Amino acid sequence: MDLFPLLEKHDFGAVHVGRDAASGMHCFVAIHDTRLGPAIGGCRFLHYTEERDALVDALRLARGMTYKAALAGLPHGGGKTVMIRPNKLFDRAALFRAFGRFIDGLGGQYFTAEDSGTGVEDMEVLRGVTKQVVGTGGGSGDPSPFTALGVRRGIEACVAIQLGRTSLEGLHVAVQGVGHVGYHLCKELFEQGAVLSVSDVDPLKAERAEREFKATIVPNTAIFDVVCDVLAPCALGSALNDETIPRLKARVVAGAANNQLAEPRHGDDLHSRGILYAPDYAINAGGLINVALELQGYDALKAREKTMKVFDTILEISERSKSSFTPTYRVADLMVEERLGHVASTPEAR
Ligand code: NAD
Repeated sequence: MDLFPLLEKHDFGAVHVGRDAASGMHCFVAIHDTRLGPAIGGCRFLHYTEERDALVDALRLARGMTYKAALAGLPHGGGKTVMIRPNKLFDRAALFRAFGRFIDGLGGQYFTAEDSGTGVEDMEVLRGVTKQVVGTGGGSGDPSPFTALGVRRGIEACVAIQLGRTSLEGLHVAVQGVGHVGYHLCKELFEQGAVLSVSDVDPLKAERAEREFKATIVPNTAIFDVVCDVLAPCALGSALNDETIPRLKARVVAGAANNQLAEPRHGDDLHSRGILYAPDYAINAGGLINVALELQGYDALKAREKTMKVFDTILEISERSKSSFTPTYRVADLMVEERLGHVASTPEAR
């Protein structure tokens, strides 16, 4: 494997490769950056046909965690584990115990949490062998309401800047995906007087939003055509692409989904069309803020207070974007790089 070019491409960092013969545990623990504090990031447990794909996933996702944690003002760097799911029968608890012992030996540089393919029960198993884990049953609980609160605060900042509105009363928000975060986001927005349109591939979820928040259900394919003030992508990645962006009627795009821009150039496209885009990793940090507080002694009120500050982050990004004619996704990256000491203090001028 062309390992060092790969690390260079993803601007790394350290990668730890773990193997336990007895349990069949194979993992990559990618630690992107620890300048702001120990790395934090979930553990994926999925099938991979190619080891390289597992490693690239870990590298890419760990880097994203550095950016999310730095912008949220957390004393953490970014990390991620990809544990390769065995193709034969395995003892899940033994596998996670082996993984727990492995990260316990990394000198406190990495805290893990649940991610795709893992759950609270796995975190409980890890807790039995290491302190390097957050998001266990007795800790911070479901992150989705905190993520949704942060997104609502981000929407408030966007509409203040873009539409000159100081309240969400009567604001029309189209929410794509009303699962864990989308549901709680609708609740937050409804309580603030917003008018909602929703779409979901699962009709039961859309109907719940209709029932509880008077939302109008829109066919999945039509959510990008809704005449509204804000589009909130809360389903899958790559919602903003060549096909969807030209259809948008909203002047603000602000939602919870990760990797909303199919490619970075789509952030440029939104900017040139005068649509204010709240960078995904900046606006959806509430869940991470919440879980990271476990390491300081969990306090739900403190988590809420800190998540409310997503407003300030999105406001700063939007203001800097406007004054420097720089797309918001670039401004967010530059703010992180400033915090990490990579660039001088007026990067937009470069
Ligand atoms: P979820 O799976 O509970 O919800 C996603 C919803 O989107 C589901 O109801 C699904 O049916 C629906 N959906 C899928 N494809 C769709 C489509 N094409 N059109 C309309 N609806 C569609 O997931 P979640 O936890 O709510 O997370 C949503 C997004 O936010 C994901 O991208 C996730 O990575 C991101 N995110 C979540 C959190 C969190 O705290 N859960 C934190 C940060 C980021």
